[in-house]
Amino acid sequence: MTRAALLARTRPRLWRVDVNAYGAVLGLDFCRLWVGATRHGYPAVRVGSKVMGGHRLMLEAKLGRPLRAGAFACHHCDNPGCMEPRHLYEGDASRNMLDAYRRGQKKPYRPRGEANGRSKLSRAKVRAIRAAGAPAASLAVRYGVTPDCISQVRAGRRWGWLVGG
Ligand SMILES: [Zn+2]
Repeated sequence: MTRAALLARTRPRLWRVDVNAYGAVLGLDFCRLWVGATRHGYPAVRVGSKVMGGHRLMLEAKLGRPLRAGAFACHHCDNPGCMEPRHLYEGDASRNMLDAYRRGQKKPYRPRGEANGRSKLSRAKVRAIRAAGAPAASLAVRYGVTPDCISQVRAGRRWGWLVGG
């Protein structure tokens, strides 16, 4: 049995059409959410002895061919459980990551604190700045940063994760 035929057989039993606000905003209509087994949030379909991503099968059925080697079945709608063919597209790993960044799911890695080589402050200095009663301008001179930076440290807008630490 071809993958497409297998998919067609499981579809009516396991699908449910659901409203997805994000998809509606994007003008992508509604997501079709998989209600069967999932793996890491993605539809899991048993094909012989293997478990395959249902969204991947669906995309292959839509394209009428297997995905290219190394390609991913990506979601326009950001909904891992979605099987709506129009929400699926073939992308490589970098494209997949790029889209995730653009949608704000993943934040680029940025070292914080001293681990960030550009930081002029350290945990000890930040604690000292927060404990000091001196004006921001004089602390700025002492620590080699701008007065604005001192204010932000004090307000917790910088090094906020260190508050109470
Ligand atoms: Zn969707």
